[in-house]
Amino acid sequence: MSLSRRSFVKFLGVSPSLFPSLSFAEASPALVPFPAASVPEGSDRPLQLPFRHIHLDFHTSPAITGVGEDFSAGDFAQTLKDASINSITVFAKCHHGMSYYPTKVGTQHPHLKTDLLGGMIEGCHKAGILVVSYISTMYDQHMWRQHGDWRVLDENGGEVGLEQNTGPMKVELGRICLNSPMLDYLAAQAEEVVKNYDIDGMFYDNMDYPSSGCCCASCMLEREKLGLHSTKPQDRVKHAQMVLDRAMSRLAPIARNKKPNMRVFFNGPVGYDRVPFIRECLKHFTHIEIESLPGGGWGYGFYEMAARFERNLGLDTMGMTGSFHRSWGDFGSVRNQAALDYECFRMLAGGNQCCVGDHLHPRGKLNPAVYERIGRAYRSVVEKEPWCRNAKPVTEIGMLTNLIHGYHTGAYESDVGTTNMLEELHHQFDVLDRESPFSTYKLIILPDSHRLDAALLAKLRHYLAGGGALILSHESGLDEAGKEFALEEVGLRYEGPWPHEVQYLEVTDPALNQGLPHMVQILYEKGDAVRLEPGAQPLARVWKAYFDRSYLHFQVEQTPFSEPTDYVGVAQRGHVIYIAAPMFRMYADFAYQFYRLLIGNCIARFLPNPLIKSSAPSTARITVTEQPGRKIVHVLHYAPERRGRELDIVEDVIPLANLKLALRLEARPRQVYLAPQRQSLKADFREDYAHIIVPSVEGHQMIVFED
Ligand SMILES: [Zn+2]
Repeated sequence: MSLSRRSFVKFLGVSPSLFPSLSFAEASPALVPFPAASVPEGSDRPLQLPFRHIHLDFHTSPAITGVGEDFSAGDFAQTLKDASINSITVFAKCHHGMSYYPTKVGTQHPHLKTDLLGGMIEGCHKAGILVVSYISTMYDQHMWRQHGDWRVLDENGGEVGLEQNTGPMKVELGRICLNSPMLDYLAAQAEEVVKNYDIDGMFYDNMDYPSSGCCCASCMLEREKLGLHSTKPQDRVKHAQMVLDRAMSRLAPIARNKKPNMRVFFNGPVGYDRVPFIRECLKHFTHIEIESLPGGGWGYGFYEMAARFERNLGLDTMGMTGSFHRSWGDFGSVRNQAALDYECFRMLAGGNQCCVGDHLHPRGKLNPAVYERIGRAYRSVVEKEPWCRNAKPVTEIGMLTNLIHGYHTGAYESDVGTTNMLEELHHQFDVLDRESPFSTYKLIILPDSHRLDAALLAKLRHYLAGGGALILSHESGLDEAGKEFALEEVGLRYEGPWPHEVQYLEVTDPALNQGLPHMVQILYEKGDAVRLEPGAQPLARVWKAYFDRSYLHFQVEQTPFSEPTDYVGVAQRGHVIYIAAPMFRMYADFAYQFYRLLIGNCIARFLPNPLIKSSAPSTARITVTEQPGRKIVHVLHYAPERRGRELDIVEDVIPLANLKLALRLEARPRQVYLAPQRQSLKADFREDYAHIIVPSVEGHQMIVFED
């Protein structure tokens, strides 16, 4: 959708605070013409997602009466349209196993008198809104109750539910195995929906076959038949992939073959926690949706990690937040406006499209207060879309995720710590797996736990030989047994874990110490005992404490540092820096500023001229994307605060004023302007950077640098 002059004036009218002061010395009041550069329409991806999607849950117990009685197709579609929504996922069948249309295959909700699915599709299509149909797969309480032998079992024969083990009398959602006649049932339901309705895609939810395997009778017997051992976790993992692949191979074509541009998505198999298995699943997908409700169990960090990996898999990707205060199905709550804005705008800033999850009330009427908030966020997305369509993130650092080492065996906290550090330092980065093209990054970070097998070692050596740089910490770079360095390029000798109770660190190199408090620093988690070999340069050394505590040598709290040792704290050899402590995990756990500044100084040794330099506080998030002929810098300033015991809250926008920002460019930009305001900014181009002053950032601001 393009920005008309009328809507632009209207935009100014409703959000005057977004428009910077015209009297500001560095900002010229001139408006750049629109479109300032051509808006790219083409995509190198198989399917282009719309920007403003809703995922509308409708899990409705058969015990609830009056279902859909307040539904009006016209009102439903108008509410969506008023909120600038152009695409929606609606329910064919829910977790309860209830269908919301007249079905010959499944079971229609006993208290639904109309064709709710048909009404939603018709109403939305009349309003120009695309409609994806939802089918719950492994959660179908209706079938679960009827088929005891279809249920997912754990190693002890316990029935696996949504949150915990379940059973016939538990108040919990039961999980059904896909390696059962359930797959035929699901296929028949999908075929019925695709045949009877003009849908634009299919969303198969909760394809949550356990990656560690299912122990129901059919899975146990099938593994035997295939020569796989159920007692071996790796064989169960292998079988899990086979079961999932079989199910997706069966279900994907049902929708895909209906018409061009049909969307097909399976929720579960490409979840970020399944990094080693994601790429082999992608052939069944037309796009990726990243379910991540910051008010739910995901928090604010998850999306950043997942999106920075999944956006580079060759498919259009949307983030998915929720309209709830907490998580799914949180009836009687609405997300703070600033939180909703932040979550949508950071999807744009990461090169993704937006989805907001909601839950329709059983009576079938959308909540106007909820859609007022979604509409506020999405109307702003409309204004911003021209600078976001087909925009590709520009990055120069890669973080190799610890999840590559197997399902749930990676050190997740180390990924969180690295992501937090790099974002707070305003570096531009992606999350990588083994298959990622290492050579496109100037620097790759291997946080904390990357013991190297032969294949990874060879790939890293090749990367280094090609001029790449590495930062490794703790066990990263060791051989698979953790006995010695496999990556000899570090130029160090590994003696083992630090053998004492406490470990301290002193930065000895003056350049690395720049901006740090000059003092001996505590390592909140002890690391390793590592010696220098010839050729490596010491940058920091380890200090020991007076003693390890016992009843004879007791010291309250932690024993103070006593003297320096010859052990390496940080060392560099060529393009490799090694840190002898789990620095990234420690940052996730303790957020000690020294750790981040130290890593920042390590990065600066390899990246003295990062893509972005700015005066922004660590609470700001800055990303760079590009479209043909221009680069777009996104500045976001929302600061989640831990206000609830388990909840980070965004409630207010805290404006930034007169933000100094410099973008590294190959040549002087033809023009620089604020978007979507289209207000010109004066840029000073020197030493390969375009320097600007952003008069004001009220939540989210795009700055466009045109070639
Ligand atoms: Zn099974």
